[in-house]
Amino acid sequence: MDETTDGTAWVYQDSGSGAQGHMELRTTASLPDPLDAHREHLAHIDDCGFCRESVDGSMCHEGHQLWRASRAARA
Ligand SMILES: [Zn+2]
Repeated sequence: MDETTDGTAWVYQDSGSGAQGHMELRTTASLPDPLDAHREHLAHIDDCGFCRESVDGSMCHEGHQLWRASRAARA
């Protein structure tokens, strides 16, 4: 497989007997794993006094970034 630097690759699609195969541009960049991002956020809350003690859902800067990453990964 010829991977390009922008996270895409040309993949040969063999469409079966009789039909002509064709090249198809596929995205190979791995998407962030929503569970990983979520776990990372939870791990941060455990480690971070501010996030852990927060009663109104407010987060520190890093906690907020991890939260946003986990939201983005799930979308
Ligand atoms: Zn925090």
